[in-house]
Amino acid sequence: MDTYQIKPVGFVVNEFNDPGDRHKIKEQPSTIIIHDIFIEGLLNIEACAFLDIVYYLHKSEGDQLSGTTPSGALRGAFASRSPLRPNPIGITTVKLLEHDHNKLVVKGLDAINRTPVIDIKCCDTSLFAAELDSNSVHNSILMADPRIEIRNHIINSQTEILMLKAGQMHGHYCPGLAMGVMAATYAMHELTTDSDGMEDLLAITETNNCFSDGVQFVTGCSFGNNALIFKDIGKTAFTLTKRDGKGIRICSRHESRNVIQEAFPGYQQLYEKVIAQQDHDPGLVAKYKKSALDRAFGTLSLPFDKLFTVSRIRADIPPYAPVHESMVCSVCGESVMASRTVKRNKKPVCAVCARTPCNTLTGEGIIINK
Ligand SMILES: [Zn+2]
Ligand SMILES: [Zn+2]
Repeated sequence: MDTYQIKPVGFVVNEFNDPGDRHKIKEQPSTIIIHDIFIEGLLNIEACAFLDIVYYLHKSEGDQLSGTTPSGALRGAFASRSPLRPNPIGITTVKLLEHDHNKLVVKGLDAINRTPVIDIKCCDTSLFAAELDSNSVHNSILMADPRIEIRNHIINSQTEILMLKAGQMHGHYCPGLAMGVMAATYAMHELTTDSDGMEDLLAITETNNCFSDGVQFVTGCSFGNNALIFKDIGKTAFTLTKRDGKGIRICSRHESRNVIQEAFPGYQQLYEKVIAQQDHDPGLVAKYKKSALDRAFGTLSLPFDKLFTVSRIRADIPPYAPVHESMVCSVCGESVMASRTVKRNKKPVCAVCARTPCNTLTGEGIIINK
C-alpha cells in the first residue's frame, strides 16, 4: 500500500491541553495560527463564513475499526467521529469569527491546543441544500402555499432570514435592502395580512432602488403580479394597503444615512480606502466586503424609529389589472397586447415597428424611450 506524507499548514491555540469533553472545547473560540509560508492561502477567506478544518489528532493512540460511541451505539470508525482510526485525521466545520494576518479565530473547533492543522477549506453545503430542495413533503406544502415560509418569518419577525432570502433575488446585501425588509415586515405586521399575488394587497413604492426589492420580497407584491405600483417620486418610502385603501406608509428619515454610518464606522474607513481612493489591495478589499456585509445585516438591528416614520394614509387604489387580448403585429409578426398597438393602414402594429415612444423604467426612473 502506498503511503503519503503530509505537512501541517498551522496549529491550534486554545486553553485545552488534553482531549476531554469535546463539546466544552467546541464552545470556546480557538485560534488557528498559519505558518508563514502558507499565509497567501488565506486570501479572501472572509468570504467563507464557515470553514472545514482538517487536522491531525496528534494525541490519538492506536486505531480501532469499530467501537461504541459516547451514547452507547456500536459503530464502525468510518461511521463515527472517533479519534481512534486508521489515519488519525479530524475534520470539523467551524464558524470564522475573525481573520488577522496569520491568525484565524474560529468557533466550533473540537481540537486541543497545539493540534497540527493540515488543511482549511471553505465549507460547501450545496449537497445539503440540494437534498433539502428535493424534500417532497416540504415541496408539496410549498405548492399549496408558496409564501408559507416567508409568512412564518414575518410572523416571527425573522428579518435576518428574510434578508438572506431577499438577497437571492437582489443579488447583493446592502442597507437599502435591509431597510426594505424592515419596513415591509413592519407594515405586514401592522396590516396583519399576507399576499396571494392576486392584487388584493398592494405595495406602492416611491423609489426604484434596493429598498424596493426588500419590499417586493417580503410583501409578495411584485412587478410581475401587478401588486407593485411604482410612483416615480424618488423617496425611499412605500405604502402597503388592502383594496379598501386604508394604507400604512413608511418613509425613511433623512437622518437614517447618518444613523447607519455612525453605527458602522469601520465600514466608512474601508470605503474611503477601497472605493474612494481605489486601493485594491486584496486583503483590504476582503475586509471591505466583510464590513459591508456586517453593515447590511447590522442595519436590521438598528432602532426602527430612528430610520423610519410611519403614517396611516388613504391610498388611491388602481383597478385590477385588465386582461387584454393579444394581437399579431402586422409588421414583425410578434404577439402583442392589443392596448399597446397602433393602427397603420387599418392593421395593428406594435410600438417598435410603428416607432412610437414607450414608457421605460430604467435606473433613472420612468423615461419616454423612442
Ligand atoms: Zn442593494
Ligand atoms: Zn412589430
